[in-house]
Amino acid sequence: MPVDIELYKNILKETSEKGARMVAVSKTKPASDILELYHAGQKDFGENYVQELAAKQQQMPPDIRWHFIGHLQSNKVKHIASFVHLIHSVDNIRLLKEIDKQAAKNNRIIDCLLQVYIATEETKYGLSEKELEEIIADITKNPGDYQHICIRGVMGMASFTADTTLIRKEMKYLKELYSRYAGIHTPGCRFSVLSMGMSADYKIAIEEGSNLVRIGSLLFGKREYAV
Ligand SMILES: *Cc1c(COP(=O)(O)O)cnc(C)c1O
Repeated sequence: MPVDIELYKNILKETSEKGARMVAVSKTKPASDILELYHAGQKDFGENYVQELAAKQQQMPPDIRWHFIGHLQSNKVKHIASFVHLIHSVDNIRLLKEIDKQAAKNNRIIDCLLQVYIATEETKYGLSEKELEEIIADITKNPGDYQHICIRGVMGMASFTADTTLIRKEMKYLKELYSRYAGIHTPGCRFSVLSMGMSADYKIAIEEGSNLVRIGSLLFGKREYAV
């Protein structure tokens, strides 16, 4: 299906005027769709599956910044470590240590976001407030163990619901956690990314302080299979 470039430009204008970066979520979508947006100027793309991402990265222009936004298993980090731009979905210490190890092997520093569980649904991944606190405490206490990662901020997904009051409440909570840790940083690594908002709720997310929205179906149309 052709991508609506006018719509893309309108959303880009809207989000960038409000200070938010936009990641185009291209999971399940073909290379041709990605290239249409790429040629319209989009450089940031988000994917959920390691194999799909690794395959697309090989075929696509090298200046695309690939964001990994799905659930990541430690044993798969090695497949994306050489090129991934930002991993949004770090939800445990073991995974973070594996990212550090694979980044070291590739002689790079990998930017990461800590994914926080903010929804009321049981199906979403992420750290609790307490786990977030523990993971940040560990990084702060043992910086030597994390020389090849940089924690850039937090990511969250609000409940999938028409109840905008609930969405807003969950987003306010993530913003509060983000602000709590906005002071932490290791040299050369700024904690400055609040990744929240998708097709259905990006407007609310920006109102609540998001500076990175992840938009899929609004740009590319409905996905063939649910994820
Ligand atoms: C699929 C996905 C998106 C994009 O969802 P849309 O509703 O299609 O915009 C954003 N973030 C994550 C983590 C996703 O898995």
